[in-house]
Amino acid sequence: MKWTSSLLNFFYPNRCPACDCILTAHELLCCACSDTLPLSQEQYCRICGKPDCMCRQTSLSYDGAVVCSTYTEGTVAAILQLKQSRNTNFAIFAARILAERLHEERLQFDCVIPVPMHRSKERMRGYNQAALIADEIARILELPLYEDILIKQRSAISQHELSADERAAHLDSFGITAQRLDGMRILLCDDVLTTGNTLNRCAALLKENGAASVYAAAAATTIRKNRRKEL
Ligand SMILES: [Zn+2]
Ligand SMILES: [Zn+2]
Repeated sequence: MKWTSSLLNFFYPNRCPACDCILTAHELLCCACSDTLPLSQEQYCRICGKPDCMCRQTSLSYDGAVVCSTYTEGTVAAILQLKQSRNTNFAIFAARILAERLHEERLQFDCVIPVPMHRSKERMRGYNQAALIADEIARILELPLYEDILIKQRSAISQHELSADERAAHLDSFGITAQRLDGMRILLCDDVLTTGNTLNRCAALLKENGAASVYAAAAATTIRKNRRKEL
């Protein structure tokens, strides 16, 4: 098997999703990007997950958050690769950082649930990137992964094509299966935390079905334009 993986890596080299440099077969990001992309835990709010805290402006349904990096430069490239089914390295890289942070904080969960993607979109892409992140975190923390509790009920226009209001209205398309989640402490995973609307709606649905707490984990988070220069 070793020679086949070397041969594959010769013809289709493993690349850093953030800067496109060539990596060895088992690396996820190059050393420079691995050092510079993740935020330290002091650089974002532990409740909303944003570097520019939105706790005062928004009422949150989730109870706290961990994020890996801000949506700038290398992260934008890495997320784009992830969304275009070209390179999933960043999902695994971010999941490992997130799992380490959750473990350090000694937070306890009963299961991991990804933000769902509509089935037709998932079939086209080949995977749901939030589920890739959730799956790796669940594996590291030895927690069950439940992919069929939250559902996306209809196909959607890409979130980035919508205004904030349209995005909020559009979130009605999330649904939940009838399964009760009484007393469960849930870790909810997504790729990008933007306005918090998606995580809020999903967390509210989980709590309506009995969840005791919902903690959010996201690979990347956006920052408001006027804050970008400061960070
Ligand atoms: Zn790199
Ligand atoms: Zn906050």
